[in-house]
Amino acid sequence: MTSASGSTASEREARIAANLAAVRARLETAARRAGRDPGAIRLVAVSKTFGPDDIRAAVAAGQRDFGENKVQEALEKIDKTRDLDLRWHLIGHLQSNKAKKGARFAYIHVLDRVELLERLERAITEQDTAPELLVQVDLAHEPTKHGARVEALDAIFEAVARCSAVRIIGLMLLPPWLEDPEAVRPWFRRLAQLRDTLLARGVPSAMLRELSMGMSHDFEVAIEEGATMVRVGSAIFGKRPLG
Ligand SMILES: *Cc1c(COP(=O)(O)O)cnc(C)c1O
Repeated sequence: MTSASGSTASEREARIAANLAAVRARLETAARRAGRDPGAIRLVAVSKTFGPDDIRAAVAAGQRDFGENKVQEALEKIDKTRDLDLRWHLIGHLQSNKAKKGARFAYIHVLDRVELLERLERAITEQDTAPELLVQVDLAHEPTKHGARVEALDAIFEAVARCSAVRIIGLMLLPPWLEDPEAVRPWFRRLAQLRDTLLARGVPSAMLRELSMGMSHDFEVAIEEGATMVRVGSAIFGKRPLG
């Protein structure tokens, strides 16, 4: 079969495998340069807009963690890849009324308000699932992006202390988009510093284990600044259709 882009399914599969190998090599090099263990950094393949065939191609090349930014689109893919043992990460905004659906993911990177935390607590208790949550932090105050402001973090960590089902494991950052990865470095560094500040203030270290930051064009810099999860889409699956 030939796709719109003119490549056959097997060419597409080979391309994804080669891209994944290249991304893993970049990840390892960046980790070693920073004196870190590459095995402590999780590569989340962001499959948004790409179909189950592309996900299967990545799985064939050894990938297990996949990220999606839209709940409905993700649930369809989760259903179509049920036969595989995958870990799904929700990396896009989650509306409170979709908490039940959100609770089906293994990781939710976008916790940004107490109301959502409480909805997730209820959904997780009812469904008996066990997603791990990361608090998305809004450092740059861009109107188009979500996330909890630094001043709002205390309320979230206090609220989680009253919960019995939800588990927070770290912080997530979606920094301003800047062409030059070096220009993004200060934002990554600020998230790591915020983690240190919260630790010093007594937030349990189990809640601050992970830093989810870095995408296709800047994940090496994020790794140098302490990322433990990088979310990489286009470098693996190719350019996304605009829209
Ligand atoms: C799309 C997306 C990514 C991946 O972006 P690429 O530039 O394709 O690697 C990472 N994080 C979030 C939150 C995204 O929405």
